[in-house]
Amino acid sequence: MKEKLAKIREEILKQIDASENLDKLNEVRVSALGKKGALTELLKSMKEVAPQDRPKVGQMVNEVRAEIETALETEKAKLEDRAMEARLKNEVIDVTLPAKKNSVGHRHPNTIALEEVERIFVGMGYEVVRGPEVEKDYYNFEALNIPKDHPARDEQDTFYINEEIVLRTQTSPVQVRTMEQGKLPIRMIAPGRVFRSDEVDATHSPSFHQIEGLVIDKNITFADLKGTLAEFAKELFGEDTKVKFRPHHFPFTEPSAEVDVSCFKCGGKGCRFCKGSGWIEILGCGMVHPKVLKMCNIDPEEYSGFAFGVGLERIALLKYEIDDMRLLYENDIRFLKQF
Ligand SMILES: [Zn+2]
Repeated sequence: MKEKLAKIREEILKQIDASENLDKLNEVRVSALGKKGALTELLKSMKEVAPQDRPKVGQMVNEVRAEIETALETEKAKLEDRAMEARLKNEVIDVTLPAKKNSVGHRHPNTIALEEVERIFVGMGYEVVRGPEVEKDYYNFEALNIPKDHPARDEQDTFYINEEIVLRTQTSPVQVRTMEQGKLPIRMIAPGRVFRSDEVDATHSPSFHQIEGLVIDKNITFADLKGTLAEFAKELFGEDTKVKFRPHHFPFTEPSAEVDVSCFKCGGKGCRFCKGSGWIEILGCGMVHPKVLKMCNIDPEEYSGFAFGVGLERIALLKYEIDDMRLLYENDIRFLKQF
């Protein structure tokens, strides 16, 4: 019996030592101490031992059992440590692996152009003001010296909600609203979406964007207007850009002009881009009509001012040499990605 016990002890301790992982160790535990384990079997054969020897043998078996249990615990702790170490090793991030590519979007060419224009005018001390896209007929037309029977209404035919309410054809109503507040002087630009009932083609859309500017102060002259727009053109298209003012007519300014810039592609020599003329038309402008000032309760004897309006799409098309305005609205990522 004693020899049998010694043999079992030795065998089990050897198995524990040889266990490579926790599963194997558990198998050893079951085969040693389980219901059908070697040690349990040995205890069952106690009846073969002489009665006077039983307490002693029993004590020996218990001692071996305790020894095996301790060995199992020690081995278990060792294997757990090793498993944790292996896991940590596996989970280390390999910084040399190529990263997963995330495609990040970017600003629309219209937005880039708008931010550029805003940057230039804010730099000259202008405020950026926004207003409603659905506007009263009064602010969109009447207050801008365009009464109901004025032919300019045909050029700016828009979408009517009812007799009194329209989708604005320009952002000038924002200027009227600002003038009405009566805080002078005014230096502002009003960017935003405008609407006209135009058919869609390469240069027209029923919905597009305008940036209009307004300055009202004492002693503002056409020279201020020319200087401001010349500076704007230089900032936007390059230091060598020249400007040319051609007489024009707008109902809300007098005198009025259209402004051309020297072609930034050929420098004015004439090319495909400027259709051989060396000049590119970019905006309309003029001195604010005294009638408009009066309607906004500003005394035209004391104050004067100038206004200008430029199409945002026009600037984006010129700046990025895009030949069809529709491309700006189609949201084709292959196109937009280029800017
Ligand atoms: Zn040119």
